[in-house]
Amino acid sequence: MGLKMSKTDKKIRNEFSEKLWTLLVGLGLVIVLVSSVIFAVKDDEIKVGAICYHKFYTQAEAEDGIEFSTYTIWVEEFENHLKYLEENDIRVITVSELLDYIDGKISLPEKCMLLTLDDCDISFYKYAYPLLREYNMKINAAIIGNRSDGAQEGNAYREYYCSWDQIKEMAASNVVEFGSHTYYLHDREGGRTGTMQMSDEGTKTYRKVLINDMEPLNQKIQSVVGYTPRFFVYPFYAVSMPSIPVLRDDLGYELLFCGNSDSTFRYCGESVHTTNYNPFKKGEEPADILVKRYTPRSGDDFAELIKTIFEE
Ligand SMILES: [Zn+2]
Repeated sequence: MGLKMSKTDKKIRNEFSEKLWTLLVGLGLVIVLVSSVIFAVKDDEIKVGAICYHKFYTQAEAEDGIEFSTYTIWVEEFENHLKYLEENDIRVITVSELLDYIDGKISLPEKCMLLTLDDCDISFYKYAYPLLREYNMKINAAIIGNRSDGAQEGNAYREYYCSWDQIKEMAASNVVEFGSHTYYLHDREGGRTGTMQMSDEGTKTYRKVLINDMEPLNQKIQSVVGYTPRFFVYPFYAVSMPSIPVLRDDLGYELLFCGNSDSTFRYCGESVHTTNYNPFKKGEEPADILVKRYTPRSGDDFAELIKTIFEE
């Protein structure tokens, strides 16, 4: 054989380099294609943080002897939160905007925030709602049916919760989107915590309990604000996994709000999302309709909380 290459060897070698060249070009194309697909998907995925509020406090509440609970924050703190979100270009959205994004109807920036309000305490109407209007921001508020019934003139809850008239007024402003927080189940009576399934309760009975409680609330909300609620908030952050198909399929709620891992996992023992934010993709049904929320406490560093939520 020696060092000289035969004609056949050269031919083989040329064929080999041609093949190698084709292979490399092909491989390059594949890499370009795959990475463009990956980046396209990434572009369509947004990070949705969610925050939960309950009560707002001023000197007036202190003078009235209203308790400052772990769920209460000062009105000034709430205003600082709104300022922070505005200054840091975090888009504050409603549940319906997020659902429009999921349906592929609108685009949203990569970082969005769902502000949520549990219970519709009267301090929400008095202090938070005017600030939201001032800052042109929106909130998603969950109504407890029997508390707002009781808040009508002359009733026991008058001074503690938003009345249906106030709810109607806020809905008309488009600053607040209303959702369901149960009619009568926001309680710990009879051995049940909120909407949790009881240990001795069959699936059929449990389903009936949820439907009998919330169908009338859906109708009441529809009659007051003009739309059926699209989201549900679990009382006490307590998630019962068997409730999910009932809330979604029978009651029509498209998103279900719970707490973060510390509060929610205690009840359901299952993962909500592995991230602190909730990932959603444009035009794609979410695998999980549970939305993880964080509750800022009075004195908390809000900037730190936002960094934690978006994992920065
Ligand atoms: Zn609540």
